[in-house]
Amino acid sequence: MASLSAVLSSFTPLARRRTWSCLSGVLHQQRQVSNAQGTAPMQFDLVVVGGGIVGCATARQMKIAHPNISVAVVEKENILAPHQSGHNSGVVHAGIYYLPGSLKAKLCVQGMQLAYEYFDKHKIPYKKIGKLIVAVEQIEVARLQAIFERATKNECKDIEMISGDRIKDYEPYCKGLQALWSPHTGIVDWGLVTNSFAENFEERGGKVFINYPVQSLGLAGESGDGKQRENTHPVAIGSTVNLPQLRCKWVITCAGLQADRISELSGCSPLPKIVPFRGEYLMLKPEKRYLVKGNIYPVSGFTGLQSLFA
Ligand SMILES: Cc1cc2nc3c(=O)[nH]c(=O)nc-3n(C[C@H](O)[C@H](O)[C@H](O)COP(=O)(O)OP(=O)(O)OC[C@H]3O[C@@H](n4cnc5c(N)ncnc54)[C@H](O)[C@@H]3O)c2cc1C
Repeated sequence: MASLSAVLSSFTPLARRRTWSCLSGVLHQQRQVSNAQGTAPMQFDLVVVGGGIVGCATARQMKIAHPNISVAVVEKENILAPHQSGHNSGVVHAGIYYLPGSLKAKLCVQGMQLAYEYFDKHKIPYKKIGKLIVAVEQIEVARLQAIFERATKNECKDIEMISGDRIKDYEPYCKGLQALWSPHTGIVDWGLVTNSFAENFEERGGKVFINYPVQSLGLAGESGDGKQRENTHPVAIGSTVNLPQLRCKWVITCAGLQADRISELSGCSPLPKIVPFRGEYLMLKPEKRYLVKGNIYPVSGFTGLQSLFA
């Protein structure tokens, strides 16, 4: 994947973190659980574990669908989106590669549309800079055609196959035999989007707690007054000793790359296992950034990594 540093320069994690740390000082205080609450258990209808984009989007959506339930998000780090959601390539994908008919394909195509609507409504900066997938070897031309057929079946909007001479209309310094042009692929700071979801969730009455690492997850025993009472909030979520227990009716775990650990904590299977692999980003020197305008991808990945995700 070659998402481009030139256009992403205004979205660097460092700049993003500086902006957040300035703007979110007050929110940061509000989101500390220990200061205000002491160690008495806190009760919610629903607790969402994980303050990445999936957790914050899920919590917000649950509050929209069920405004009267109490919902809390708990995040173990001291900011939201500290992991994948704040450290990705920032691409708004169009749904090109996914297997036609699959849920991934449908959700990605619909999700892109919904994401742009959300960005416009909530004034989140983004750039619809498009994406070129470029065939540079003859053998890649047939593979590119197969990608185009998938994208067409997935109803990716305005996807086009272009000849080698037209590549320079989009990327003046890029050369290839043929390319697929996706005009609606864009870039955005997904960390900013996560924070926007969280703020919107809080405006609807939701609670966000940072610095709350979930360390135990199970069913609570009955309260010890000897009377037979219905246990209305049977799920008990525990953290470090100085933090209160959370009691709830339902829990949704959105722990990203620690999903297997949380699953195991709750007594479920750690499978499928999360398998890490290393990747690297290279930054173009400022004086070379004119070389690229948007997203340029190779074809070759289609038979390898990308097909794994199909
Ligand atoms: C290198 C890379 C590049 C990517 N590029 C793109 C891209 O360009 N476009 C795109 O759409 N997607 C991209 N993705 C995918 C995207 O970033 C992820 O799908 C998305 O961020 C997943 O969000 P999440 O909320 O599930 O996970 P995360 O953001 O990882 O959030 C999970 C959260 O759970 C918290 N957590 C874990 N355990 C506990 C616990 N015990 N107690 C409390 N909290 C806990 C973690 O601290 C974390 O904040 C990329 C991913 C990677 C790794």
